[in-house]
Amino acid sequence: MSPAAAEKTIFAKIIDREIPADIVFEDDKCIVINDINPRARVHLLVIPKKPIATLFDLKPEDKDIIAHLMLLLPQLATAQGLDGFKTQINTGESGGQEVFHLHIHLLGN
Ligand code: AMP
Repeated sequence: MSPAAAEKTIFAKIIDREIPADIVFEDDKCIVINDINPRARVHLLVIPKKPIATLFDLKPEDKDIIAHLMLLLPQLATAQGLDGFKTQINTGESGGQEVFHLHIHLLGN
């Protein structure tokens, strides 16, 4: 296995359809899945297709991707029947991040 393949995260494998996931939405920039271990009635993971590891790794050229994700959040929440929701981005090991492919948790009850 090449080093790049060895480093592929679970989310990259989901994006590449190498492992299954409960996909809620997808477009050219992102994929949205149901969290496998939900902490709320609705617990989505909004994942950019570009493999940015953490918020620390964001570059100025990624601003369109981030804006896209932010604009999508309320649309996803509305589609899930939510009139309010929480978002969370765990960043770095000490920030509780387990999967090192940037993602936004969308949580609502
Ligand atoms: P974080 O701690 O922010 O890195 O969160 C990673 C999240 O990914 C956790 O809430 C996990 O439950 C979730 N997760 C891990 N593997 C999968 C998977 N195969 N499908 C859906 N969600 C997953």
